[in-house]
Amino acid sequence: MMGCASSIHISDRVVYHSGKESEDSQNCGHTRPSARQSPLTEVQFGPMKLYEDQLQVLLVFAKDDAQSGGFSWACERAGFRCNVARTPEAALESFQEKSHDLILIDHRHARGFDAEALCRSIRAVSCSHNTVIVAVVKRPDREEATVMPLISAGFNRRYVENSNMMACYNELLQLHHGEIRAQIKLRACNAVFTALEQSQEAIEISNEDQIIQYVNPAYECIMGYQRGELLKENTEVPKSEKNKPDLLDNISSCIHRGKEWQGVYYAKKKNGDSVQQNVKMTPVVGQGGKVRHCVSVNRPLNDHNKTEKPCERVQAESQTDIQQFSKHKDRRKGSLDVRSTTSRGSDAGSSQRRHSSMARIHSMTIEAPITKVINIINAAQESSPMPVAEALDRVLEILRTTELYSPQLGTNEEDPHTNDLVGGLMTDGLRRLSGNEYIFASKQVHHIPSHLTTPLSLNDIPPCIAQTMENEDSWDFDIFSLESATMKRPLLFLGLKIFSRFGVCEFLNCPEATLRSWLQILEANYHSSNSYHNSSHAADVLHATAYFLCKERVKQSLDPIDEVAALIAAAVHDVDHPGRTNSFLCNAGSDLAILYNDTAVLESHHAALAFQITTRDDKCNIFKNMERNEYRTLRQAVIDMVLATEMTKHFEHVNKFVNSINKPLAALEENEGSGDEDSVKNILTAPENRMLVKRMLIKCADISNPCRPLELCVEWAGRISEEYFAQTDEEKQQGLPVVMPVFDRHTCSIPKSQISFIDYFITDMFDAWDAFADLPNLMQHLDNNFKYWKGLDEQKLRSLRPPE
Ligand code: AMP
Ligand code: ZN
Repeated sequence: MMGCASSIHISDRVVYHSGKESEDSQNCGHTRPSARQSPLTEVQFGPMKLYEDQLQVLLVFAKDDAQSGGFSWACERAGFRCNVARTPEAALESFQEKSHDLILIDHRHARGFDAEALCRSIRAVSCSHNTVIVAVVKRPDREEATVMPLISAGFNRRYVENSNMMACYNELLQLHHGEIRAQIKLRACNAVFTALEQSQEAIEISNEDQIIQYVNPAYECIMGYQRGELLKENTEVPKSEKNKPDLLDNISSCIHRGKEWQGVYYAKKKNGDSVQQNVKMTPVVGQGGKVRHCVSVNRPLNDHNKTEKPCERVQAESQTDIQQFSKHKDRRKGSLDVRSTTSRGSDAGSSQRRHSSMARIHSMTIEAPITKVINIINAAQESSPMPVAEALDRVLEILRTTELYSPQLGTNEEDPHTNDLVGGLMTDGLRRLSGNEYIFASKQVHHIPSHLTTPLSLNDIPPCIAQTMENEDSWDFDIFSLESATMKRPLLFLGLKIFSRFGVCEFLNCPEATLRSWLQILEANYHSSNSYHNSSHAADVLHATAYFLCKERVKQSLDPIDEVAALIAAAVHDVDHPGRTNSFLCNAGSDLAILYNDTAVLESHHAALAFQITTRDDKCNIFKNMERNEYRTLRQAVIDMVLATEMTKHFEHVNKFVNSINKPLAALEENEGSGDEDSVKNILTAPENRMLVKRMLIKCADISNPCRPLELCVEWAGRISEEYFAQTDEEKQQGLPVVMPVFDRHTCSIPKSQISFIDYFITDMFDAWDAFADLPNLMQHLDNNFKYWKGLDEQKLRSLRPPE
């Protein structure tokens, strides 16, 4: 009968018995009992479908006997793969290799190996908790011995010896459908726990008495607790006093009735703060149809990782009958200790550390202003009705982006002129880099040509020049007449006149001769070969700056030092401009782009060079006699203004100005007629607002050419277009990326380019500046000029002027 032993293949120390798919099997000619044919069996585990592999059984019997033979036969009949080990060592080795589902250990012979010691050794191997181990014991004379020693050794159950083959087979079937299958399901819990652990939503499982049984790392992170603290001693779910008194009762009765609860709820963080969360609490029905667990999935109200639509969350306090579904969910061993079911091993420590450092970040005490803003909004959300809280959610999403002031610039602009202007002026040429070297037009700082160094005083300006400057305080002043009257030295003459009008020398405590030398060297460092960015543009910006400084609101806002800084900044703001854009310099890998890391390259250079040429030589050092702190303040203001002319920050400066100055002023006026004097003054003179006014002032002065009288505006448009055309020519010639393809001298429509420039950059900015400084004449010119360009465009003309 036990002849089945001959179907067992014996290798060195471990004996392999054939399972159906065994590579080790040897057919000994025996007819196999009716083994189950399919090794893969479907096992339903709640909503999960598992596939059970062929079961692996290990028999540990020192020698063959009727009992071991009975189990071997039963294994074969059941279709299990069976190994036999003769010694504890062989058993351990085999188990480590195969991780059997079931081990049957012979415990009948006191003189053989120590079955309990072997069981302990197997239990010491990691992951052995999912293996069922059975002790095969002698039939006791009297049932007086307890099974406790076996349980302590790690056995799951005992089998009282009975070599009857059907008894062995029935035992295996019971084990298979009972404990072994339960272990297979528990193993699948590892996957479920891993999902919980990795969920971004805070998940908490409590028992029916609200004692916490599990929280996931996201919960630890949001609430500031460590899991260990909450699981230590029957800890109840932390509650916040901020919830309406009857809310908790409602939730509790809902859960006890087996209903799901969904709504907004305050949870209490470890630091005592209350955090408003969208919560979904689901009761899990277990033994006796009673609610045994409650799973709550929590999401802070401002969490923008949410995937559901707002309307799904608005159904606060909705209830769903989930009783039926819960039946699948409940597993008696569902509350099994995570540590024993997940294979976290050494990872556990590192993930704990990670979470505790996350918790530290959450409780940082040094807060950036934006963090304060977000906190204020969070707090406001807590007491806001749902639609407001949700609107604030969207606000928070926007606030979390870094580019708060720049509109989303995409390539979706339909108009190629706008696209090119935006690309050319508002980017640094990234992603278009080429390694070509751009040789700077002038690497050397310019010195004043000797024939121009003739001493000159404001009092002995030649009459023809003086005449052209007579109306320099008017907006309609003609800079181009001055340009020709001074033989392209408008900055020197207009500078002398305007600086004198504002008492700059007195403020700086510097002789007029120093100012004159300074203006001369400055002008010499502008490139007269540039059609636009030459000293006439600097003089023009200086003129506009002086004009704006005389406006009432501007005067109310700025101090004398601000005025002086603005005038100096205007004069120096484009010094040594190479007539090429930042994008071009970055693409070409120019020295300047390298020096300034492709960031605000030209503006950084203008500011740095201005101070270099000023302070290098006492003869032209207008700051020489200044008190140190005053100089530092003035220098800082000049640098800030020059950097503000960088177009990548255009919208940032304009929007900040509108938000911090125009809107509060308008609100005051709305509330109190013309506005209460003190409040207006406070807004105008706050240091950070003065800075915004200065930035806006120089920006508007810098690109005020579309607001000049038509003829001047057209001339400037011609000059900037010519400079862009020259850049495109050079880009093509040198094989560089063409930054603004529409500015091709053969195809460009100047009217279209001006319409786009005005639409995109000018209109909003001057609307805001006009609202502040009251500039109806500029707005009128802007309107006329815009109509002029539109008119040309409607006639399909691409030129600067209509044909004669
Ligand atoms: P800045 O280089 O400091 O003069 O900065 C002003 C920017 O606006 C420059 O990049 C100019 O090229 C650009 N810009 C000024 N006026 C016009 C205009 N009328 N059309 C197109 N671009 C202009
Ligand atoms: Zn400029």
